[in-house]
Amino acid sequence: RGFNFSAGPAAMPTEVLERAQEELLNWNGNGCSVMEFGHRTPEFEQLLDQTEADLRKLLNIPNHYRVLFMHGSASHQFAMVPMNFLAPGDTANYLEQAHWSKKAIKEAQNFAKIHVQRGFQQTDEGLAIVPESEWQLDDAGKYLHFTSNETIVGVQFKTEPEAFAGKLVCDMCSDILSRPIDIEKYALIYAGAQKNIGPSGMTVVIVREDLFEQMQTHRVPSLFQYPLMAQHKSMYNTPPSFGIYLASLVFEWLLEQGGVEAIEKANQQKAQLLYDAIDASIFYHSPVAKDSRSIMNVAFTLSNPELDSMFLKQAKEQGLLALKGHRDFGGMRASIYNAMSLQGVQTLVDFMREFERKV
Ligand code: PLP
Repeated sequence: RGFNFSAGPAAMPTEVLERAQEELLNWNGNGCSVMEFGHRTPEFEQLLDQTEADLRKLLNIPNHYRVLFMHGSASHQFAMVPMNFLAPGDTANYLEQAHWSKKAIKEAQNFAKIHVQRGFQQTDEGLAIVPESEWQLDDAGKYLHFTSNETIVGVQFKTEPEAFAGKLVCDMCSDILSRPIDIEKYALIYAGAQKNIGPSGMTVVIVREDLFEQMQTHRVPSLFQYPLMAQHKSMYNTPPSFGIYLASLVFEWLLEQGGVEAIEKANQQKAQLLYDAIDASIFYHSPVAKDSRSIMNVAFTLSNPELDSMFLKQAKEQGLLALKGHRDFGGMRASIYNAMSLQGVQTLVDFMREFERKV
């Protein structure tokens, strides 16, 4: 296997894939794959309960929050959040950061009047988060939506915003489970699976239960209603069972690594190694200000963009995969989620140094 720096679908821990391979034809001695197994069976329900329990343990999720394993993607949540939370005449605050938050804003504007606060700005040091002291929010807003880690440009909040504590709604797709978080600050968290959880097609939602009472159900399709999905323990219909199974293996693997506290240390070490190599060079450049840099997605450019394709070709030949930056942003991006090893990042850094020396 190569070292896969894809932003998503992203690398899975090799041990997890090996275990899934072993169990593919005969899951838990049941004589068939989990993919072929009825979801309304005690065996599957036990798997679902264990998966939820492991996630609760990893993120220290209090009992008054519900965990949902939903079909679909984060983009579904862009619509589901305002559909459930906003009645006619309500407003909500959205931080406009980059690509993904803009999509979330566009979707929310179909449902209500949205107060948009600019979240990113260009500074002398590079792209940065606008300091919270400069934000102007609508106090009447039902929630504040933000993206904890902007995957495309590699800009990450180091801590939660202070404003709207308890009423934060967060797109946590690309940094969930990479570090401990204070769940109580959030009304709702959503994360598509395909970075730190499992295969695409499933989204994890963590939502405070008492908010269900105020949620909209009029003209909201059943499958899009959070309270109904919670009432049916994510099994209103056939759940994404294979995704849940793979998530269960990833959560088990994470617990074996020492949980999110230990993985955060490893993630910081990997990111430091790569950013230090970029900062030490005049050939590579990070477009992001130091304080706002992501420890999950490391964007960088070469001083001569004409060398981009050669860089990518040679990297691939050495088993360093998917380093091309997002189509809207260009340059390079190394996504170093939980499953990326320190050895993978070290191999990339060695390659970058060698490439710079040779050109
Ligand atoms: N939000 C963030 C931060 C993302 O990184 C992505 C995808 O990579 C999305 C939303 C959209 O996810 P999906 O394509 O699963 O809808």
